[in-house]
Amino acid sequence: ASGYSLLRDPQYNKGLAFTEKERDAHYLRGLLPPATSTQQLQEKKLMHNIRQYQVPLQKYMALTELQERNERLFYKLLIDNVEELLPIVYTPTVGEACQKYGSIFRRPQGLYISLKEKGRILEVLKNWPERTIQVIVVTDGERILGLGDLGCQGMGIPVGKLALYTALGGVRPSACLPITIDVGTNNEQLLKDEFYIGLRQKRATGKEYAELLHEFMGAVKQNYGEKVVVQFEDFANHNAFELLAKYRNTHLVFNDDIQGTAAVVLAGVVAALKLIGGTLSEHKFLFLGAGEAGTGIAELIALEISKKTNVPVEEARKKIWLVDSKGLIVSSRKESLQNFKKPWAHEHEPVKDLIDAVKAIKPTVLIGTSGIGKTFTKEVIEALASFNEKPLILALSNPTSQSECTAEEAYTWTKGRAIFASGSPFDPFEYDGKVYIPGQSNNAYIFPGFGLGLVISGAIRVHDDMLLAASEALAGQVSKENFDKGLIYPPFSKIRKISAEIAANVAAKAYELGVATRLPRPENLVKYAESCMYSPLYRSYR
Ligand code: NAP
Ligand code: MN
Repeated sequence: ASGYSLLRDPQYNKGLAFTEKERDAHYLRGLLPPATSTQQLQEKKLMHNIRQYQVPLQKYMALTELQERNERLFYKLLIDNVEELLPIVYTPTVGEACQKYGSIFRRPQGLYISLKEKGRILEVLKNWPERTIQVIVVTDGERILGLGDLGCQGMGIPVGKLALYTALGGVRPSACLPITIDVGTNNEQLLKDEFYIGLRQKRATGKEYAELLHEFMGAVKQNYGEKVVVQFEDFANHNAFELLAKYRNTHLVFNDDIQGTAAVVLAGVVAALKLIGGTLSEHKFLFLGAGEAGTGIAELIALEISKKTNVPVEEARKKIWLVDSKGLIVSSRKESLQNFKKPWAHEHEPVKDLIDAVKAIKPTVLIGTSGIGKTFTKEVIEALASFNEKPLILALSNPTSQSECTAEEAYTWTKGRAIFASGSPFDPFEYDGKVYIPGQSNNAYIFPGFGLGLVISGAIRVHDDMLLAASEALAGQVSKENFDKGLIYPPFSKIRKISAEIAANVAAKAYELGVATRLPRPENLVKYAESCMYSPLYRSYR
């Protein structure tokens, strides 16, 4: 290959870091200025450049540009500066990027499969340059973060999630495939936007939708085999639960909003017990939001309680209450409830608002999964704090604008007594002379390690016990030092170690359940997971 095309190929390009010998061997003489650099020096320069930008979206674009120019350097930056760059490639900035995706779009970073490709999806998959795919993240863009229907512009989410699969979980970038399924959008603003990149029509539903998805799932299995992980991401709940139920017994699928989130939150709650006291079954949980995240978390908590205390899961569910847009979910509403809410319709008189539900249920743990910001009001949090010495407050909605409350509000309204974590990051906050460090309760802790565990064991199905295994591994990574600071999650700076632990625990469970195909089972799964992880260091080309 010519030197020029080497410089244009993000998988191989090293820029100024090509050595003298490589410049001779690969026809690069004259194509680069005389200076040579190290990867470290390149990293220093880029971080310096990125820090010059004041606007987060500019940082996002600079990182995208780097990813398309020099992939290894992109991942080196992300891995070494994970806490600084996560809010850029992921929530909250990725949300803004999706909203403006039409005007910042430059090159395809994943596959677009629209209704136009119906009947030809297998062909489309073959157009992607990579043959060996281990992880697919797919969205249809209908519920992007808490921002609603962004149609085809939801592509930013699979792209961002897969960047984390590599940076946080060590899955090779070439084995990752972001996909957006475009069946139209109901977002009027986008339909009118001249720069919109998607199909200009209302969303297809019913049979038309189901058929496209079915063709897609079939093509994926046909093209990549049965060990490719398919992560469903940011589908609206009316499709999400159905898709998961339909494909969980035939494909290696999981829904990150329902299942990944559940594992992360369960881990945080279990870890928090060290700070707030009691066992899991002694606590009472109230959710604002009874969709994918809310009911997914609730179900995994109930499952864990049921396993730990040997009670039927129906019994365990009684510790958990949910509020949706119509109020507390109670038995008198059962007839009109969507299926995924029915298990939560407990005996109680109707309650309309969150504040009244808090007063009536008296939860010890309050979890926000509504996608609506500012809903944990002063009144709500003060009521919670009035009967809890240490209330656990999880404001999970993303991005930051949709957070149920801010870290500052949680700490000041509870006079510093709250244990708080949120979906999108907040800065440390000083209250009454003490610095409080809010944790980030985000599925980014789980899915990269979870997916890695599936890949290294050659798992062919996802079982709920594997989610519990992931959750347990994450909770086990919170150190005394973290607890002393009031944290219920370990810092993201340790994420590769955490992901290896999660992967190992998930893989171990897959072997135990007989759904692992990579045989024989490696003796030390943590070491094995670590040895499988992608390194972004440059290779020398001979
Ligand atoms: P979803 O399935 O659409 O569920 C939203 C739920 O909130 C529904 O039950 C809805 O009620 C309820 N709701 C909406 N407005 C409300 C209001 N004003 N008062 C009370 N309830 C209200 O969405 P989801 O997938 O669960 O996601 C919800 C949020 O969680 C999003 O912001 C998302 O970004 C966030 N999330 C965070 C993480 C994380 O890792 N931190 C992971 C996943 C999701 P109805 O059912 O009555 O419509
Ligand atoms: Mn999501």
